[in-house]
Amino acid sequence: MVDLPRHNANFCATHLQQLCVRQVQRAISDFSMFDDSARILVAVSGGKDSLALWDMLVELGYRADGLYIGLGIGEYSEESHRITSAFATERGLTLHTVDLRDEHGFDIPTAARATRRVPCSACGLSKRHIFDRETTRLGYDVLATGHNLDDEAAVLLGNTIRWDVDYLTRQYPVLEAGHGFPRKVKPLARLTEREMAAWCVIRGIDYVVEECPMAIGNRHSGYKETLNEMDERSPGTKASFYLGFLDRMAPLIRSTPASQGAPEACPSCGAPSSSSETPCAFCRLESTASAHEPVPVRMVLNRTARRAFDAQWGEE
Ligand code: SF4
Repeated sequence: MVDLPRHNANFCATHLQQLCVRQVQRAISDFSMFDDSARILVAVSGGKDSLALWDMLVELGYRADGLYIGLGIGEYSEESHRITSAFATERGLTLHTVDLRDEHGFDIPTAARATRRVPCSACGLSKRHIFDRETTRLGYDVLATGHNLDDEAAVLLGNTIRWDVDYLTRQYPVLEAGHGFPRKVKPLARLTEREMAAWCVIRGIDYVVEECPMAIGNRHSGYKETLNEMDERSPGTKASFYLGFLDRMAPLIRSTPASQGAPEACPSCGAPSSSSETPCAFCRLESTASAHEPVPVRMVLNRTARRAFDAQWGEE
C-alpha cells in the first residue's frame, strides 16, 4: 500500500496506477496537449519522472519515442545513459541520443567553468536548444517533459518570491509552438514526485535514484524542501498552491509565444534567436566551452555537493 496524505488515503498497486493514469489523461485533455495521432518525443534523463512518463504514454497507446542528452556529468551521466538505453531496449522503443561532447565539443562541467556561471544555467540552455532542434528536425508534433507537480510548484514559488512576472505569465503545462519553436507539454503536472516513484516501483522500472550532483544545495532544491515541510504539516498545500495557480491565476495572466515579439534566425545555426546579426546563446556557449580544457565534474561542485558526489560515485 502507498500512503498519499494529500488524498488522505492508502492506495494498492492497482488503484495507484489508475490514479496516475487518470491524472495524466486529465492533464492531456484539460490542457489540449495532443491528440491520439500525435508523434510525441519524450525528453528522458534516466530519472523516475521521465521514464514513468514514457512508460505511461506508451501504455496509453500513444506514439512516443525518447530523446536522451549526454551532459557529461561524470558517472551520474554514464549511469543515466545506461539505464535509459536499457529501458528502451527492453521495451523495443526508439531512443534518440545526442552527446554534448561528441556533437558540440563540450560538457556541462566544462561549460560551467568556461563561462563562470552555475552549471544549471549552461545545462538548461543546452537542453532547451537541443530539445527544440531535435523535435523539429525529427518531425515530431510535440515534446513532452517529465516535470511533475513538485517541480512546477517549486518553480512557481521561486517565480513568486522574485515576482518574476515574465516567467509567471509563461508558467503553464503547455507551451504553444510558435516562431520556429515546437509545442512543449508537461503531462505529469498533476502528479507528485512520490506518486511517480511509486509508479516506477510498481511497474518494475529501474531509474537513477541519485539526483544530479549539480542540484545539491541549489535554490530550486531549497524551494522543494520548503514546500515539502509545509506539505508535511498540512498535506495538500503543494498541490493546492500549484493547481490553484493553474485554475485561478494562469487564465488571467497567461501569455503565448504569438503575443511575444517574433525572433530572428541565428546566423550560425539557424535556430530562433533575438538577433540575426550575432550568434544565438547556445552557439556562443558552444564557442566558449569547446575551446576550454575539459573539467572534471568534482571541480565545479560546492563542498557539500562534492562530499555527496564522492560518497556516491567515489573520487575521480
Ligand atoms: S541539476 Fe542542473 S546540471 Fe543537473 S541536470 Fe538539472 S539542470 Fe542540468
